[in-house]
Amino acid sequence: MKKAARKGFLRRLSLIACMLLPCMPECVAGQENPVRENASGMLARAAFSPFSPASAMSRAASRTTLPAMPERVSDPDLDLLLAGGHVIDPKTGVYGVRDVGVADGRIAEVAERIDPARAAQVVDVSGLYVAPGFIDMHAHVFHGTVPDQYLANSYGSLPPDAFTFRSGVTTIVDTGGPGWRTIRLFVEQTVRHSETRVLAFLNIVGQGMKGEPIEQDVADMDPKLAAMSAGLHADVVVGVKLAHYLGPDWTPVERAVEAGRQADIPVMIDFGRSDPPLPLRELLLDYLRPGDIFTHAYAAVSRREPIVEDGALRPFALEAAERGIVFDVGHGGGSFMYSVAVPATEAGLWPHTISTDLHTGSMNHGMKDMANVMSKFLNLGMPLEAVVRASTWSPAQVIRREELGHLDVGAEADIAVFRVREGDFGFWDVEGYRMEGDRKIEVELTLRAGRVAWDLNGISKEPWTAE
Ligand SMILES: [Zn+2]
Repeated sequence: MKKAARKGFLRRLSLIACMLLPCMPECVAGQENPVRENASGMLARAAFSPFSPASAMSRAASRTTLPAMPERVSDPDLDLLLAGGHVIDPKTGVYGVRDVGVADGRIAEVAERIDPARAAQVVDVSGLYVAPGFIDMHAHVFHGTVPDQYLANSYGSLPPDAFTFRSGVTTIVDTGGPGWRTIRLFVEQTVRHSETRVLAFLNIVGQGMKGEPIEQDVADMDPKLAAMSAGLHADVVVGVKLAHYLGPDWTPVERAVEAGRQADIPVMIDFGRSDPPLPLRELLLDYLRPGDIFTHAYAAVSRREPIVEDGALRPFALEAAERGIVFDVGHGGGSFMYSVAVPATEAGLWPHTISTDLHTGSMNHGMKDMANVMSKFLNLGMPLEAVVRASTWSPAQVIRREELGHLDVGAEADIAVFRVREGDFGFWDVEGYRMEGDRKIEVELTLRAGRVAWDLNGISKEPWTAE
């Protein structure tokens, strides 16, 4: 494109952006910073403490002019430049307005200013946030058409790409769909056919999460074979999952942890429904190891004692968090109640990892998608930087894939570009109670390995003209 035409194109792009994004600071002179230091939702909240990053980082983008466009070099070294966004990158500690350059599918440079002439394409993201692509650490994507197999190669699970990029997710972790008997099918059928990076917690049940009675088959819970299979598929398997066990004994927990020990990977437990109930305190303090994951943390599951009692957080929950047990949201269609989440977070138990528990029973429910679950915690009083951390760098650390969840130079360019809308919103829990909120995360652009995988308003596209 000729220089003059390009300048005109960029000007038009910026005008279109202002029409589409009326809350951008560039578009409204003197408008207040779109992100506040503290939540001012319906509830007065306890100060965020245990997992909070430095507080002074809660400043939104304030660039008021577009970067000047110098002459384009003939041989650009960057494929794409995200210009002027407010970077939130908890791993590297970068919080502020930065340009992000992408080349060969990887992060090439993050700097206060990168010469736009170096890039084959420039996308103006000023007024928007730029974060590592979100990691949804609890979901069900072993989609298939075999009837009556619940979340393992059946209808209850969803194809990953349909539900990830639109909410900024670039890595999704299936939690327990496949077991050691079915992991090969999962890799062939789901992992290899998805643009989203798909990882998995291997079910301790060899058949995987096929519902009842298969998930009760203790004889099919083989730690040695599960660990061996995890090793064979180490590029995909990041942990071991136990879920839905109804028996009154600890054998499945012990076998899952033993598989995790042998494969040196964490274990995620969906606990409860044992008859008679097993004590949650014992699970968290005696059976699980530091780094193991307690999912559905804010649920009140039948026959499982919740982490709150009479509106107060049980002390053992904080004790467990302090000894390194990971508290994961796993919202789902039945596992996030304000009656638990509000007192727990008020008492300081914020999630280490935010996740959806995506499946057909949650996608059109109060859960909706990753951005909606993140928005819930934002409105509960969790600072934006902490919400992003719990959706990027924290899950990357928990699943021990530390090459993910950040914008380090050389990392695969998985990037979520989003805004925080202000207005009157409602967020409902699995019991059907609505909480009002005034902020909502909306994902504008998602890059997966440097490629535009989602573009809500076409900000990476050229404007249509009649010519
Ligand atoms: Zn689940």
